Amino acid sequence: MNTKIYCYTCGTRLIQQYIEEENKTRKYCPSCRKPIYENPIPSTAVVAINDKNELLLVLRKVEPKAGQWCLPGGYLEMEETPENGSLRELKEETGLEGEVTGWAGNILAENIFYKSVIVMGYIVSNIRGKLTPSDDCIDAKFFPIDQIPPIAFRSHREILSNALKLRNSMDSNIYN
Ligand SMILES: [Zn+2]
Repeated sequence: MNTKIYCYTCGTRLIQQYIEEENKTRKYCPSCRKPIYENPIPSTAVVAINDKNELLLVLRKVEPKAGQWCLPGGYLEMEETPENGSLRELKEETGLEGEVTGWAGNILAENIFYKSVIVMGYIVSNIRGKLTPSDDCIDAKFFPIDQIPPIAFRSHREILSNALKLRNSMDSNIYN
């Protein structure tokens, strides 16, 4: 697992140190004499369903889970809102644009590079543009909602499930 080895401030190699006040072992810089706090990295995943009731998925080119389908999405840039980050990743990966119209949960997940990530799920509607898979992925495609292939990440499966539940409850509100 590729987590922090050197101090952000001074570059000294970090050690593991028991922090008495917290009753917890943390990474510690012996030069700065400070514990190093690590946090989950924020990322996003987009549930985009078109007016033909098809779900947009991308075929991953890079690890983790290269060669498997997942929701479009990715890591936030500095000073970027999660909503804007979702739309940027959607556009970068698939060429499509839309509007964030719902939230499908925040899922804490393990990650091979960052140890721990929070995946924020957004529902994007009014999808428009020409479907153009980027160099970041092998393919991007709409699948009929009842014929979707296995989805690579547990976090994405949970976000999709949340989004579909929300949609169903909204549909039933219309008819009740
Ligand atoms: Zn230091």
